[in-house]
Amino acid sequence: MTKKRKSRGRSKGGKGRSDLVQCSNCGTLVPKDKAKKLTTRVGLVEPMLARELRAQGAYIATSRTLKHYCVSCAVHFGLVKVRAKDERRFR
Ligand SMILES: [Zn+2]
Repeated sequence: MTKKRKSRGRSKGGKGRSDLVQCSNCGTLVPKDKAKKLTTRVGLVEPMLARELRAQGAYIATSRTLKHYCVSCAVHFGLVKVRAKDERRFR
């Protein structure tokens, strides 16, 4: 059978069904191994102020937020790009 992608668009491998996660943007349900994961650090203090405080030796805590995106939202936000046909097989 011809294959479009080596991994079939997922990082599942030979294991069976995987859990579903909700897309952070559109809310659609996507398998966890197909969704694009994005970790961002969000500070409570504004960046300019945080830098000044850090220079004076203060510790500024940041919280880590984890987001899952479905493929179409990931493409829309530029997390992944559309690749040429012969380029898709790798990675
Ligand atoms: Zn989405």
